[in-house]
Amino acid sequence: MTAVLAINNSHKLSSPRLEMPPRLLLGAGPSNADPRVIEAMSRPQVGHLDPSFLKLMGEIQELLRYTFQTDNSLTIPVSGTGSAAMETTFANTIEPNDVVLVAVKGYFGRRMVDMAGRYGADVRQIDKPWGEAFSLEELRSALATHRPAILGIVHAETSTGVRQPLEGVGDLCREFGCLLVVDTVTSLGCFPLFIDDWKIDLAYSCSQKGLSCPPGASPLTMNQRALDKIHNRHTKVANWYLDVSLVSKYWGKERTYHHTAPINMNYALYEALCLVAEEGLESRWERHQKNAQMLWDGLADLGLVCHVPKELRLPTLTTVRVPDGVQEAEIRHQLLNNYNIEISGGLGDLAGKVWRIGLMGHNSRPESIERLFSALGELLPKN
Ligand SMILES: *Cc1c(COP(=O)(O)O)cnc(C)c1O
Repeated sequence: MTAVLAINNSHKLSSPRLEMPPRLLLGAGPSNADPRVIEAMSRPQVGHLDPSFLKLMGEIQELLRYTFQTDNSLTIPVSGTGSAAMETTFANTIEPNDVVLVAVKGYFGRRMVDMAGRYGADVRQIDKPWGEAFSLEELRSALATHRPAILGIVHAETSTGVRQPLEGVGDLCREFGCLLVVDTVTSLGCFPLFIDDWKIDLAYSCSQKGLSCPPGASPLTMNQRALDKIHNRHTKVANWYLDVSLVSKYWGKERTYHHTAPINMNYALYEALCLVAEEGLESRWERHQKNAQMLWDGLADLGLVCHVPKELRLPTLTTVRVPDGVQEAEIRHQLLNNYNIEISGGLGDLAGKVWRIGLMGHNSRPESIERLFSALGELLPKN
């Protein structure tokens, strides 16, 4: 008889009930879920083909279309985090040797380069220093040089705090006959984004940043131009799980089983999107801008300098320079351990140089900012 192995260190398990610290998540993500969203997750479970769930799926799609400002019928939550939705765009549209141009100005642009390469693309990259955005002229000249099948660009670069202006980029892509893929992970639901008006062909986001929902169900939308490229593929999509021709049969009329939808995550996303619709996109955008301004004013009062010029600053994520002589990581550890507040350090080129402060969705409130300032006032050296 084989002996059953005991649990190692069973005395270390958190029993009888899981306890977790009540953090205020003011970093680069995740941000805190709205209490109504957490509550929605505990509704009775149903099957993934239950009529009540199929109805909910339709409602989620409708709410996502509003949030993305699109009529695209292929608008769904991908089962997984933002990176899964990101991978869905590239896995489906790239065929081996397609030229994919990525405009890189931070960490998540680099991730696009990595992903596109894995699907066999001939990846070309243009770069900007971390803290800047591309101009239309720079994008035009790169499109003319590389003649790509796809242009990838990040709307809200969470690693730098830069907002990439997108007006006119879609027109350029049509002029050069390429698809436009936009990362809207830290913009969706928080500041202006118009998928149809701006002629964005594919966009993806996540649930745990601007939408105040836990991570796990990630918005994706694609238009007919994107679907045409997919329908004309000569090769099978090299990723079974994320193949939209299969996934959309479950989200479309056929309701064919592909993989089990994360049922309770969809309850959460539904509730989060209802909160967006109840508040209204315009009021929500205004709230994020107003609270970001309050943060920027307070940081200036503390003598701190923002890394990004104001006209390109994200309302959702602020990069602020670490003053000389201050231990970057030490302040973050103290905030977390003594005040239950999480902020993020810099990534990549900005590692050690900045803190990243997020005000996303439910957390974009004067109370969160006041709590952060009262802690920072105690922790930072007085001049
Ligand atoms: C967070 C983030 C991602 C990745 O999303 P995950 O949910 O962590 O997989 C992609 N792009 C940007 C701009 C992000 O901020």
